[in-house]
Amino acid sequence: MDMTLSKGAIDFIDDAYIFRLLEQKEDAGKVREVLAKSLEKKALNLEETAALLAVKSPDLLEEIYQAARKLKREVYGNRIVLFAPLYIGNHCVNDCLYCGFRRSLTTTVRRTLSDEELVREVKSLEAEGHKRLILVYGETPAYSPEFIAHTVEVVYATKNGHGEIRRVNINAAPLDIEGFKTVKQAGIGTYQIFQETYHKETYAQYHPANTLKGNFMWRLDGMDRAFQAGCDDMGIGALFGLYDWRFEVMGLVSHALHLQGRYGVGPHTISFPRIQPANGLDLALPYQTTDAQFKQLVAVLRLAVPYTGLIMTARESPAIRDEVMEFGVSQIDAGTRLEIGAYHEKESITDAQKLEKEQFQIGDNRTLDEAIGWLLSRDFIPSFCTSCYRVGRTGEHFMEYAIPGFIGRFCTPNAIMTLAEYLKDYAGERTRKEGEALIARELAKMPEDEMKRGLMERLRNLAEEDKRDQLF
Ligand code: SAM
Ligand code: SF4
Repeated sequence: MDMTLSKGAIDFIDDAYIFRLLEQKEDAGKVREVLAKSLEKKALNLEETAALLAVKSPDLLEEIYQAARKLKREVYGNRIVLFAPLYIGNHCVNDCLYCGFRRSLTTTVRRTLSDEELVREVKSLEAEGHKRLILVYGETPAYSPEFIAHTVEVVYATKNGHGEIRRVNINAAPLDIEGFKTVKQAGIGTYQIFQETYHKETYAQYHPANTLKGNFMWRLDGMDRAFQAGCDDMGIGALFGLYDWRFEVMGLVSHALHLQGRYGVGPHTISFPRIQPANGLDLALPYQTTDAQFKQLVAVLRLAVPYTGLIMTARESPAIRDEVMEFGVSQIDAGTRLEIGAYHEKESITDAQKLEKEQFQIGDNRTLDEAIGWLLSRDFIPSFCTSCYRVGRTGEHFMEYAIPGFIGRFCTPNAIMTLAEYLKDYAGERTRKEGEALIARELAKMPEDEMKRGLMERLRNLAEEDKRDQLF
């Protein structure tokens, strides 16, 4: 690996400035001004974000939640995009103290999927109805950019009846510029790298200096190298529980503003995992994020970066997912299994997790069909849409949220089409009925125009002629 940083690399996390901003006290007048700005779909600066993070009184917090809910409905509509993580291998040269894959753990069962095993996993996921995956890797020279690109190609080439994976995202270590070019050529969707913590001293505490990941700046600069390699679809994240949650939100917003300022494109997604129990994990976590803080941080992120997708993973319990969803989440994973090989090998998703084989414990082990049933009962449209990325609407062209009417013209009809495919091919009886009722309700809301006629025609093509993947 070429350890050269990106052109013009800088540490854009200004700790002193962030601490100063976080000292401000709750100010209702200012908070309302910031909420008004956010509801005009304008991104917030760090000072405005800090004003929302300072809020403690329940009434004012409620105003923040109301605004986040409204913005979510206006910007994203009621779609929730579904995906599944697929762990490719858990060998790792790093020793991150919170992770069940860290190299010093001798009890961890190490495994990398062979091509054959990967194909079996993908077929099992396709048989459930999945269309979007995120491939996850430890960090070791064997998981090179060429290896990652190869696994992506295997996934795209694997079909199962009507099942196919239409978008493959990646969560792996930061690469050098050549490495990013290699994975881009394989047709990846989003490349996610979580900074874990934006606080340098804490970072050093959890990531030993004699490991690759111990290099804070190499990781922070990862997105810049990706952009300079021509990737424009990137995901950032922080692991909540390592340091003060308010600082991490400021770090995430600093990162988004930096990318937007320098490349004209912000991150496509932000993730906010909370630390979960893991094999060999015996950490005292003084900063473990409470449910109330979690709720506030999601709402504040929604308001601060209105055009960035927010991902809430199955680390969270069904109850928390249910509560937090409406404050601005746009994507969730469902039917999640973390054990390597488990989509094919495990009898049932509810089998107990075997932590020595997994990265951490999950909170939501419902099947994909159960998760879809839950979304439908909350009047969300479960979506497997992959249209923008496949017709080239990414990066600076990926202005779906900014263009008036875009969601109505593209996102909602695509969500309905992919849901209809799921209902026809994979849904249980009850989910199918609820899904059909939701589609009927959505159709009834639409004006009688060209778009609706196009959608009705495609739905007929699916029902009568078995035509699939009819993109808007
Ligand atoms: N090895 C790559 C890396 O570190 O960038 C891929 C990431 S790792 C397999 C995926 C993410 O899981 C990490 O970035 C971290 O944020 C998160 N993670 C690690 N241990 C965790 C735990 N105990 N609970 C919740 N999330 C955890
Ligand atoms: Fe390895 Fe990633 Fe786990 Fe760190 S978080 S030990 S780099 S798999």
